[in-house]
Amino acid sequence: MKLSSFLLLFLLSVNLCAQTKEVAITIDDLPLNGAQFETARLRKMTENFLAAIKKHQIPAVGFVNERLLYHNSEADARIAILKLWLDGGVELGNHNFSHLGFANAALADYEDDFVRGDAVTRLLMKPNKPRYFRHPFLQQGKTAADEKAFEDFAATRGYKMAPVTVDVLDWMINAAHAKARSQNDEALVKRVGEEYVQFAAQRFDYSDQIAQELFGRPIKHIVLMHANELTAENLDALAAMLKNKGYKFISVEEALQDPIYQMPEKYFGSSDRLGHWAFSKGKKLNPPQPSEFLQQPYLDHQRNRR
Ligand SMILES: [Zn+2]
Repeated sequence: MKLSSFLLLFLLSVNLCAQTKEVAITIDDLPLNGAQFETARLRKMTENFLAAIKKHQIPAVGFVNERLLYHNSEADARIAILKLWLDGGVELGNHNFSHLGFANAALADYEDDFVRGDAVTRLLMKPNKPRYFRHPFLQQGKTAADEKAFEDFAATRGYKMAPVTVDVLDWMINAAHAKARSQNDEALVKRVGEEYVQFAAQRFDYSDQIAQELFGRPIKHIVLMHANELTAENLDALAAMLKNKGYKFISVEEALQDPIYQMPEKYFGSSDRLGHWAFSKGKKLNPPQPSEFLQQPYLDHQRNRR
C-alpha cells in the first residue's frame, strides 16, 4: 500500500472515531444557579462562561428561571445579563418560572408556571422563539399520562423536552467552590476546579460505558451544567478535557435526533434519559460519586438550612 493510501485510511479512521463521541452542552438556572450575589459579579461570571463557549465554539442552550430575574430590585440588570447570553450565541430555553418540580405539582399549576416561565425570554429572543424545555430537578410528571399531557401542552407552544444523559453535579460541587471563594483561598478554589473537571471526566466515561451496555453503540449525549461560578471558571478546562477524549460539540437539535431520546416503555419519571432506559431495561446504575472534599460543603449547607 502506498503511503498516501495509508494516510487516507488513517485520516478516515481518526474522523470516524472523532464522530462517535458527541455532546450537546446545556446550562440550567440562568441567570444564576445557587446562592445569589450582586450584578457586577454575575456579569463577570457570565462573561467567563461566554468566553469559554466562544473559544471552543460550543452551540449551547441556557435554561432560564425567570423568577431569578426579580432579585433585589435588579430586574433590568439581570435581563441585560440574559441578553448577554443571547448576544454570545447561546440559545435560551424555558426551565419554568419558579423552578417548580413536576413530581409534587398538579398538572395545571405546572403548566401555568411553564407559561409564565418564558415571558421575558420570548421578548428577548425575537424574531426567534424558545423551543426547548428542561424539567426542574429533572422531574417528569408523577405518571406517564401527566407527562404526556404536559408535553402535548408544551408542544402547542412550540416546545420540545430536553432530557439529559450526563450530570456532572456542578450544582452540588459549586458549594465547595463558593466556600473556597468566600475564604479568599485561591489555592483551594483552584483545587476544587481541577477535581471537578476530573470528576466530570469520570461521569462522561460512565455514561459512555452505560450507553455501550444498553445500546451497543455511542450515543449523542446531552450534558447538564448550571449557570454558576464553578462551571464558568472551569468550562475552558472541561471543554479541553472533552476534546482530548475525542468529543465533538453538537447542538441540542442534533443530539435529539438520536433515538435514545424517545421515551422508554417503562415509565420512570425522570429526564435522566440513560437512567430511564436503564430502569426500563431492568439495569441498576451506580455512577461515580464526588469525593468527600467536593461534596461536604454542599451537605453542610443543606444541614444548616434545615
Ligand atoms: Zn434547575
